[in-house]
Amino acid sequence: MQCELCGKECNCRPAIVDGVKMMLCSDCMRHGEVIDVVAKPITSTKPILQRIKRPKEKDVYKGMSKELVPNWNKLIKSAREKKGFSREELGFKIGERTVTISKIENGDLRPSDKVAEKLEKELGINLFEEVSGTPSGFGVSHNRDGLTLGDFIKREDK
Ligand SMILES: [Zn+2]
Repeated sequence: MQCELCGKECNCRPAIVDGVKMMLCSDCMRHGEVIDVVAKPITSTKPILQRIKRPKEKDVYKGMSKELVPNWNKLIKSAREKKGFSREELGFKIGERTVTISKIENGDLRPSDKVAEKLEKELGINLFEEVSGTPSGFGVSHNRDGLTLGDFIKREDK
């Protein structure tokens, strides 16, 4: 095969020069726009990129200062019964399936922040509690009885 630009005998590859498709040698390749036959259309990789950008686990990590109250499932159930809603009715009101409501009330399913907020509004309850700082005594090491390392060594000597 001959290069269509310089006429050199070569293992030519297709390229675009001034809008014209030509077979070019490696020397002339820099003058044209290389047609990459291997590359797939960019559109096929787009959904994958979007999935990576938006991880579903996001809710787990956000809002560290706000947590569901420990007995959220019982709270939801009693509040619903007080209001006289069936699980179907409550599910309909907040746009969730009855089976989802059942799972939440059984404690099998932790409601997402969004669902919990809807439940709060619909049932007039408070499902979140503010977590202020670290729990008391957490990570703080006290020497029991006020002993120092020296005291221990003296005792061992006895
Ligand atoms: Zn050439």
